[in-house]
Amino acid sequence: MSTQMQTAGGPAPRHDAGTRNPIVQLRGVTKIYGRTDDVRVIALDDVDLDIYEGEFTSIMGPSGSGKSTLLHSLAGLDSVTSGTVTIAGRELTSMNDKVLTHFRRDNIGFVFQAFNLVPTLDARANMLLPMRLAGRTVDKHWMDQIVRTLQLHERLNHKPHELSGGQQQRLAVARALLSRPAVLVADEPTGNLDSASSAEVLNLLRSAVDHLGQTVIMVTHDVDAASIADRTLVVRDGRIVADIAQPTPEKIGDVTR
Ligand code: ADP
Repeated sequence: MSTQMQTAGGPAPRHDAGTRNPIVQLRGVTKIYGRTDDVRVIALDDVDLDIYEGEFTSIMGPSGSGKSTLLHSLAGLDSVTSGTVTIAGRELTSMNDKVLTHFRRDNIGFVFQAFNLVPTLDARANMLLPMRLAGRTVDKHWMDQIVRTLQLHERLNHKPHELSGGQQQRLAVARALLSRPAVLVADEPTGNLDSASSAEVLNLLRSAVDHLGQTVIMVTHDVDAASIADRTLVVRDGRIVADIAQPTPEKIGDVTR
């Protein structure tokens, strides 16, 4: 198998050429699990990657290819064996745990497959919780804008169990957006949802990029979900083997088949 990176159509032209600012940069990132040769797994193999501000990037690849490791490494959830990860000009790989925890809290929004909502709190309180825990002031105007964009206004007084799966995940996205993170990272955000709810959540991530200028990075195994992004990276054997601009299911299929 060739490890040469394939590109389809060049860089994603969502913004004018020349205005794409890298917000996440990986240089020579390698992640090895296990210390001895018989259990050693090279989950990421010397990855160089730029992810651009205000773009929606999706990450695809077969199970075990390294997608989650890539996402966790670029979001500072997982340490790397070698190489550097930089977000918004700050190098994560040189931070100690305490600094990294604060940096993550202030700069990265997370949406996981499980919604991770607090069942006893209503939607508004769930949305506000991370900011309250961090002692940060909530920008009411920004909150209104998110709630409007995500069409959650009629649901703010509902507890999670009174919301559909799609609504719960939309709430999780709202919570992640509230702190204006430099990067929103989503790990299989539609993995627990039916197709209608998946479409809702994907459209909302799309509108967070288009209307709120949010940078989004999403891991998915679903070709249709991946193609909502501006750019799809295909991971195989710990390497990025394709970088597809303006992906479609057909373009992705050509590379992943
Ligand atoms: P994907 O998200 O594409 O399914 P992962 O990033 O989870 O892939 O895994 C990449 C490789 O690293 C796989 O071979 C997996 O078994 C291995 N791996 C992931 N996490 C660990 C771990 N904590 N310990 C040992 N090996 C791991």
